[in-house]
Amino acid sequence: MPINNLAKASPNEIDAELARLNVELTKAEQILVALRKRRRDRIERGEVDLADELVVQIEQACSAADACEAAAMPFEQEFTRRGGWTRAWLVLNTGGHVHRTAACRTCFPTTKFAWLTHLSGRDEVEIVDLAGKAACTECYPSAPVEVRNQPSRIKTSEQLAQSAGREQRARAKAAKAISSPDGTPLRTKHCGLIETEFTARRSYADLLSYARYLTRQNVVFHRASIAEHQEDARLILAALSAKHGRTEDDLREELAPKVEAKWTREHSKWG
Ligand SMILES: [Zn+2]
Repeated sequence: MPINNLAKASPNEIDAELARLNVELTKAEQILVALRKRRRDRIERGEVDLADELVVQIEQACSAADACEAAAMPFEQEFTRRGGWTRAWLVLNTGGHVHRTAACRTCFPTTKFAWLTHLSGRDEVEIVDLAGKAACTECYPSAPVEVRNQPSRIKTSEQLAQSAGREQRARAKAAKAISSPDGTPLRTKHCGLIETEFTARRSYADLLSYARYLTRQNVVFHRASIAEHQEDARLILAALSAKHGRTEDDLREELAPKVEAKWTREHSKWG
């Protein structure tokens, strides 16, 4: 999400953008290192022309890295202007600790961190509470013992995004799903288990159109079957009514054209 007004942006937004730029910068620097090494190798082999071909690419990688640093500058300045805010980093290995700074002396230059930008600006007590036993004792020396005995509830931004995605998919699925008014699966005698609203609406039209066909054929002979089809349709109507908080009459009226269409298209033509 682009930040339009830096002065109004939250610490999360600013740090998320800085984290993104950090990733870009690291990529550009890695490319630069690889290109420079390739150029040196070619020079050593006496392949001067081939080595020169890399100069343009090296310059491009340099300017990409410079651009990242320049883009990060206003965000860093905003951090300073506001007198800073809390930040948290999680070391990316099993049982990795949460630190208030990536410069913590218990870490190494090679330590891999996830910057927990969603916690930027949060109360440190809250961060320590979430971190539980994962809170670095060096960074958070005042964390109470009972907090230190709690399991960590820290998640990385990626994990949070993943679970948000899962929730969204579950919501979308629930929006399409249908069940009996009491929440149990919607089972019908003639259409079996109905799991989606789409199937429910289609089945409703099928059932009533077919009941109409049976009625035309021989209402006395098919009395039991007609009643069963009508009962199935009633169950579906009740389910739709419960799901949408609408009356059965309202839904019956809405679905009537579907029943009519099914009848015209199919069952009315049966002999
Ligand atoms: Zn630490």
